[in-house]
Amino acid sequence: MENDLELLKALRTIAPMNEIMDDLEVAALTDRIGKTVLSETLKQVIDDYRKQLLEDKFFMTSMSLLPRQELTSYLIQKLKEKLSEQRNTGLQKLINATGIVLHTNLGRAPLPGSAIGLIQEVNEGYSNLEFDLETGSRGSRHAHIESLITRLTGAESAMVVNNNAAAVFISLHTLASRREVIISRGQLVEIGGSFRIPDIIASSGCAMIEVGTTNKTKVHDYAEAVSENTAVLLKVHTSNYKISGFTEEVPLQDLVQLGREKNVLVLEDLGSGCLYDLTKIGLHHEPTVQEVIAGGVDLVTFSGDKLLGGPQIGVIAGKKALIDKIKKNPFARIVRCDKSSIAALAEVLRLYMNPEKAIEQIPALNMLALKEEELLLRAQELERQLHAALNERCQTDIVDVYDEAGGGSLPDVLLKGKAVSLTIDDLSANQLQDLLRKGSTPIICRIIKDKVLLNVRTISEKEFPLITQTLQSIVG
Ligand SMILES: *Cc1c(COP(=O)(O)O)cnc(C)c1O
Repeated sequence: MENDLELLKALRTIAPMNEIMDDLEVAALTDRIGKTVLSETLKQVIDDYRKQLLEDKFFMTSMSLLPRQELTSYLIQKLKEKLSEQRNTGLQKLINATGIVLHTNLGRAPLPGSAIGLIQEVNEGYSNLEFDLETGSRGSRHAHIESLITRLTGAESAMVVNNNAAAVFISLHTLASRREVIISRGQLVEIGGSFRIPDIIASSGCAMIEVGTTNKTKVHDYAEAVSENTAVLLKVHTSNYKISGFTEEVPLQDLVQLGREKNVLVLEDLGSGCLYDLTKIGLHHEPTVQEVIAGGVDLVTFSGDKLLGGPQIGVIAGKKALIDKIKKNPFARIVRCDKSSIAALAEVLRLYMNPEKAIEQIPALNMLALKEEELLLRAQELERQLHAALNERCQTDIVDVYDEAGGGSLPDVLLKGKAVSLTIDDLSANQLQDLLRKGSTPIICRIIKDKVLLNVRTISEKEFPLITQTLQSIVG
């Protein structure tokens, strides 16, 4: 009986919808959210509140004591929380504190500022995407990158598609469908996310002929498998794993020579489109596009957003006659890329024209090149800013870590890095990791030896204040 009265009282205290909508704080949201979504969300908030009153006696008793004005403030607070939850679905910025530079789940390569500038310019208004300014007639979207690729790599011609998977697919579909593609058993790569070379070969309409063994394939294995139905010798860079020990792979040059003798094409799927000699920044040698072209390959395909450090794109470079054929394939329309990616790639390639500048300005290369001393300074600065802003509940330390290139590149390379380790009183490492992931700017980090680590290689100094804010709201 007493309960019923309390419930009735609590329910009656809820102000009418229109009264809450007219509250200045709510009215201020109408511009951004729109009246319909705002009133629908408010209705949900009130429904949820009613439900909770019915289900939770303790909650109901305490709420029944609130005067209407305070209850309205409470509901408006809930409304704001719900709206911000809704905003947090969908693509959003986050902070990559994993130290994995080309993290496939976190968007791979961040773009240089100048590339972002060009994306903005060509999207704010119109552009010469398919318009030739010289002649005033229809142009090709491939033209914007073709001359850059040919100058940088020595290839005769080039075109761009949506990603490297599409590049491999459309190349094989155009040049080898209903014919045979020969590949070494040591190169039947799975990239992840259901991209497997045998599946791509099959879906481009080709018959796959496997030769050699997992660890050893010799040039005569290829030679013996060639028939009048063979269209392509395919070499796939084992970008995300290494076969070591008793191994043998056929060098590209030998494959090219065999291809010429037998009159079949040689294609290389290079995976990462490395244009820069990585030994110059102290990393292992990774085959570059220039080397593959110089090796005489007919076509090479590679990604834009791996070691190249550009947008998601696939490049096909090589013999002009073959590229011209691929451009005419009806699938070219299906796998074509949009103006934003073309703008970004063109700008990144322009930076490669001056290699020193490329290292400075292309974030992926810059992060890969960072030395331990530089990372230590960065970690110390982050630690200093955290100390200045947080109370003693939060303890930090600077620790040695290993970072990775990621994105299926340089699989056996561990980069010496630095991290700020975090512990917060009364929170387990897992709880802290969860809270960081759910912060207003999510922070993604790893736990090692029961400590949450912020690897600074992949965090820019501009992001430090966001990390501090998130931790402030966690520590209180
Ligand atoms: C990454 C990779 C691909 C797929 O490239 P996407 O650009 O991600 O489509 C294909 N082949 C190799 C060898 C790769 O390393």
